[in-house]
Amino acid sequence: MNERIFIAVAWPYADGPLHLGHIAGAYLPADIFARYHRIKGNEVLMVSGSDQHGTPITIKAEQEGKQPSEIVTQYHQQFLESWQKLGISFDLFTTTGTANHAEVAHDIFLTLLDRGYIYKSTMSQPFCPQCQRFLPDRYIEGTCPYCHSSGARGDQCDECGKPLNAAELIDPHCRQCGTTPQFKDSEHFFLKLTAFEDRLLDWVKQQTHWRQNVLNFTMRYLEGGLKDRAITRDIDWGIPLPVEGFETKRIYVWFEAVIGYLSATKEWAKSTGDDKKWHSFWQGDDVKSYYFIGKDNILFHTLIWPAMLMGYGDLNLPYDVPANEFLTIEGRKLSTSRHWAVWLPDYLSRYDPDPLRYLLSINMPETGDTDFSWREFFRRNNDELVATYGNLVNRVLTFVYRNFDGCVPTYEDMGASDKVLPLDDRDVDLDNKSLAALNTIYADGGLLYQCHFKQALKMAMTVAHETNRYLDEKEPWKVIKEDRQAAANSLYVALGIISRLKTMLYPFLPFSSQKLHEYLGCEGRIEHYGLQTVWPTPGQKLLPPQPLFAKLDEGLAEEETSQLGHAHY
Ligand SMILES: [Zn+2]
Ligand SMILES: [Zn+2]
Repeated sequence: MNERIFIAVAWPYADGPLHLGHIAGAYLPADIFARYHRIKGNEVLMVSGSDQHGTPITIKAEQEGKQPSEIVTQYHQQFLESWQKLGISFDLFTTTGTANHAEVAHDIFLTLLDRGYIYKSTMSQPFCPQCQRFLPDRYIEGTCPYCHSSGARGDQCDECGKPLNAAELIDPHCRQCGTTPQFKDSEHFFLKLTAFEDRLLDWVKQQTHWRQNVLNFTMRYLEGGLKDRAITRDIDWGIPLPVEGFETKRIYVWFEAVIGYLSATKEWAKSTGDDKKWHSFWQGDDVKSYYFIGKDNILFHTLIWPAMLMGYGDLNLPYDVPANEFLTIEGRKLSTSRHWAVWLPDYLSRYDPDPLRYLLSINMPETGDTDFSWREFFRRNNDELVATYGNLVNRVLTFVYRNFDGCVPTYEDMGASDKVLPLDDRDVDLDNKSLAALNTIYADGGLLYQCHFKQALKMAMTVAHETNRYLDEKEPWKVIKEDRQAAANSLYVALGIISRLKTMLYPFLPFSSQKLHEYLGCEGRIEHYGLQTVWPTPGQKLLPPQPLFAKLDEGLAEEETSQLGHAHY
């Protein structure tokens, strides 16, 4: 029976280019998961979009002397190009700037207000007497009360990573003009999280299939007690409030961005011509929703968004939130302000997508932080993609192409049936092992089903290793001189396993799997073939093979590493 899978992916701020931390944290695992379910024939909807609101964007706009709308348009376009080049296969990647999104956000706001889950109250906010405006989050700076570094912001200290309140800052001042702010009362709306504490606790306790780190983190926070949170701000960039008298305020970005998962689904439904189609991904027992996010976003997806959904009612809560940990770069914490990052558009301008997908998958920060280093990137590309997998494919295809008239050879005694019988013991052994690997990776409840991406990729690579070993034993390149049929047999088996490998590796390496699919003489898109092990048909024409991967100069690692920390991009 087919499943319906809703894949929600974190919304990146449209205030700068994507970097490898974003990709390893949320976008690549989501894409692998989507491709896995699609090739199995399940109905998948994967959505996200640019987060166009929030003070990071207005600050960036002020720095560059542009309008916020120019900044978000520029980066949204760049995100779309990056997804296409890296093969991140969204069904819809929209923005929080659409009328549809504002409408859905207003509906949720008003419904929660109507039910008493949103209420009005005043809070003390920093106000700059010089600029005559309230100073949200990042518009106020000062000295960190914890580590005493200067340049801590009203929401967080970048130096020690502690979240802060503006009132805690030592020597606070307006970022714009340097004036010491006054604190003034301002009326705002609050989300009554305290009303959901018991329901959330009951619900979270049942989520035993969540990753341990996600579950523990959520439980610890929940046991510490929830506080109501302000969901509006004194700013002019963002979604206006759907109530009168609050014209100078906007809905706070964290409240409306999570609503994007629902509004994007509605936008997608409209684009299919069936407005009602969104229901099938948000209601009922026959759909599961997965939220792919980085660990800094866990609470928004395991507590706050579920509370909003509980308050609104009649919509599915997340089934799983497989949040990843962080990716460090060359042993140091990734920092965009210090330019300690590898930017995705920069990478894609010089290298192919699959080697990056490979490295970030085999080294994915699923249960703990992992490190990206250029040395490892070059080494794994050359030793694993080129020497192990690429070489296996290339030597088999090239040899068959030259010695068997560019066609799949015929296995002995096969007759008219496409069943490969009889096989010798070694052939059977390899066939069984690779089939077992495919099942472990792909089965319901298997590795990919449970979001164990790293393990799944490692298992596929052991099949490539094993097949190389098989060929080293069978030596068809030598044997062909005395026994052409024996060589044909082992090459036929190797082609079958390679065909299986293209499927096993497809979610991770979609570009090279598609190429291999074509070299094997298959037409159309690999995903349309589904999850069947197609043994190549004897006599089937192969395409002239090319190497799947290019060897890279490992000497470049030093040069690449030396670029880190410089504002060259
Ligand atoms: Zn000021
Ligand atoms: Zn600090």
